[in-house]
Amino acid sequence: MATARVDLDGNTITPMTICMIGAGGFIGSHLCEKLMAETPHTVLAVDVYNDKIKHLLEPDSLPWNGRIQFHRLNIKNDSRLEGLIKCSDLTINLAAICTPADYNTRPLDTIYSNFIDALPVVKYCSENNKRLIHFSTCEVYGKTIGSFLPKDSPLRQDPAYYILKEDTSPCIFGSVEKQRWSYACAKQLIERLIYAEGAENGLEFTIVRPFNWIGPRMDFIPGIDGPSEGVPRVLACFSNNLLRREPLKLVDGGESQRTFIYIKDAIEAVLLMIENPARASGHIFNVGNPNNEVTVRQLAEMMTKVYSKVSGEEAIESPTIDVSSKEFYGEGYDDSDKRIPDMTIINKQLGWNPKTSLWDLLESTLTYQHRTYAEAIKQAIAKPTAN
Ligand code: NAD
Ligand code: UDP
Repeated sequence: MATARVDLDGNTITPMTICMIGAGGFIGSHLCEKLMAETPHTVLAVDVYNDKIKHLLEPDSLPWNGRIQFHRLNIKNDSRLEGLIKCSDLTINLAAICTPADYNTRPLDTIYSNFIDALPVVKYCSENNKRLIHFSTCEVYGKTIGSFLPKDSPLRQDPAYYILKEDTSPCIFGSVEKQRWSYACAKQLIERLIYAEGAENGLEFTIVRPFNWIGPRMDFIPGIDGPSEGVPRVLACFSNNLLRREPLKLVDGGESQRTFIYIKDAIEAVLLMIENPARASGHIFNVGNPNNEVTVRQLAEMMTKVYSKVSGEEAIESPTIDVSSKEFYGEGYDDSDKRIPDMTIINKQLGWNPKTSLWDLLESTLTYQHRTYAEAIKQAIAKPTAN
């Protein structure tokens, strides 16, 4: 007989039903995969798309047959949502517009998606005494305090001026005309609402702040499985450039810094939250890898090297090109300068640590990108254009 799954305190974990909203996206697809392969839990997968989880839904002979059901619905306007939340033990909300190219060009959709559309989810969980794990973002921190210091100030090297801590760091956004911050601001307000529901009405919640989770199935490759003019997040932008043998575009010099974490490491943290409610509830967790910090320029250089290795193709002569943010994203773009997560709270509550180095995660991700897209790109490039 298989040994029972136990939580971090040695208690047996009983199978639960999870309503996962946004299950068809990048993070949702990996979380569904993990839950099906390694746990006895059932998932009610809610999304408007299911392409990224199709391999989990069909055929009927899959070992987890019956433990995952797809519900195609738009949470903006579907009365079935409350019923799905009511018949679940836990709701995980991943649904959002979360691509920077949309924040300044579609600020209304961004605010509606990240705040207004999340309101009924919070309300149904609170009214029905259901637990909620809500996905926020590291972007709620905005810019670091250090970014306002003079360029040559020695204080810029002091972690007190740049490490982002859930319970003490302020949230610093640009002016209202910089519509980039519409996303961060909407996410911050929904965090505050969830926190207040916890404080005033006893909602059992956990808030997750992802710090640049990357890996296979992230976003889309323009012109192949997404719009030709679409601008995805940096991993997919650079992958697209590498696949097409075009220079990688560095926005405003590629000086911004990010810490990247492998999706599979991050999903381990989410599973711990799901299965350890007593340790996770009432907390906001940074989930990132502080050891994987690079500038965007360094990311471009590393991706170029890794892609050469996995594809066997030599890099092009000028692998990067500079573009202004106005040219690339349009009016109203602004940027987060640096994002290093403090790991104290997640370490203390869940004993979790990320494992995968940036080189290793890029190697497995770009191997996937090459295997999945190289042939389709070749055919798209070879296709004669219509007159
Ligand atoms: P994603 O775009 O791949 O997934 C979001 C999913 O939500 C999509 O499949 C989309 O179809 C679905 N969705 C959106 N609106 C919906 C609606 N009205 N009804 C039904 N489904 C809807 O994004 P992701 O990277 O998987 O991100 C998931 C969550 O994590 C988001 O809330 C995002 O803000 C947050 N996040 C992710 C990262 C990251 O590094 N990937 C970083 C910060 C925050
Ligand atoms: N970026 C870039 N070239 C691209 C796409 C993005 O230089 O082709 C930069 C972008 O300006 C930002 C960083 O890469 O500084 C990360 O962008 P991403 O879209 O992944 O999201 P963010 O981390 O800003 O939320």
